[in-house]
Amino acid sequence: MSSKTLVQFLTKNLNELRNQGLYNEIDPVQGPNGPIIQIDGKRLINLSSNNYLGLATDERMKQAAIMAIEKYGVGAGAVRTINGTLDIHVQLEEKLAEFKGTEAAIAYQSGFNCNMAAISAVMDQHDAILSDELNHASIIDGCRLSKAKIIRYNHSDMDDLRMKAKEATESGQYNKVMVITDGVFSMDGDIAKLPEIIEIAEQYDLITYVDDAHGSGVLGKGAGTVKHFGLSDKIDFQIGTLSKAIGVVGGYVAGRKKLIDWLKVRSRPFLFSTALTPGDTGAIICALQLLMESTELHDQLWKNGDYLKRGLKKLGFDIGNSETPITPCIIGEEKKTQLFSKRLYEEGVYAKSIVFPTVPAGKGRVRNMPTAAHTKEMLDEALAAYGKVGKEMGII
Ligand SMILES: *Cc1c(COP(=O)(O)O)cnc(C)c1O
Repeated sequence: MSSKTLVQFLTKNLNELRNQGLYNEIDPVQGPNGPIIQIDGKRLINLSSNNYLGLATDERMKQAAIMAIEKYGVGAGAVRTINGTLDIHVQLEEKLAEFKGTEAAIAYQSGFNCNMAAISAVMDQHDAILSDELNHASIIDGCRLSKAKIIRYNHSDMDDLRMKAKEATESGQYNKVMVITDGVFSMDGDIAKLPEIIEIAEQYDLITYVDDAHGSGVLGKGAGTVKHFGLSDKIDFQIGTLSKAIGVVGGYVAGRKKLIDWLKVRSRPFLFSTALTPGDTGAIICALQLLMESTELHDQLWKNGDYLKRGLKKLGFDIGNSETPITPCIIGEEKKTQLFSKRLYEEGVYAKSIVFPTVPAGKGRVRNMPTAAHTKEMLDEALAAYGKVGKEMGII
């Protein structure tokens, strides 16, 4: 027998979401999440994955995973601090540090997990965190977990950040103050103003924390947003995910050795959750090697991103202010946005609608994620569908 209270709670809330058109239906992908996917037996051009460089389905990556599985098996067998640290994990962390241009790095099981781990390892109830209002959910949750005072600043508003940094540090209420931001904001594709953030951080001695989940592999010739601005030695915490451009799963912090040493003894997911699998670890090392050897995939990603953006703009869509390949197509009202995405689907394009509460109410959008693996023909096919549906719905 389930609890009556629980059943009532679930029924009421699920119905409410469905009625408002906010309930997200999940469509399983039948096969690899490449540039073309199959759902319900239907062939679709995929503009919704974070597989920026096509590495999730790359043959070299698959071989690297298979080789690591042959050598080490499928599981790490323990948490990192007992005996789940395999030599392949150490190799991965050395490669990550090299990739990011830092003294050291520590790997976690996911990017989300990494934010749960890293923030609360350093910040506590006597501290304050200045957080961009559009920061990713995992940053918000990581901040909450730390029990530090969270002070939100307006999105990329440097005057607001400066004022709040001054207030927080001069109040004498806090032992430490951190500023935390996404490197690239995933809903609009805009880049954090890192040079100004650093200037403010230096003025007020703030700890700096940049989560570059959408920047790594994409900006800075692949090395990320921090490298893009030439600030590798100025950011305390460089966070990244291994699940987006890198194409596998996992997260990491890159920074000075002392910080990484501390995280290895204090960050709870490192101590209490089993290490990355050998197969994943082998594939990630392969991806980092590919990115350090050549910018070919990175260059192709940008070429495809620019092509798609130019095409959508020419058709007359509002594509916002993206500075990266992330290409939002802003529709507005929630139900209209969902209908737009549904019509694209019927026309053979998978571009997911993103609505409140992921983005503000009335700012619904269909978000396009072009990748290095798309061909020009695929993008042309997507643009044709956009043109057709946009005209039909009176959007363009
Ligand atoms: C996607 C994302 C994460 C989560 O990364 P996973 O590896 O998928 O858990 C964390 N932070 C930001 C900014 C992200 O965009």
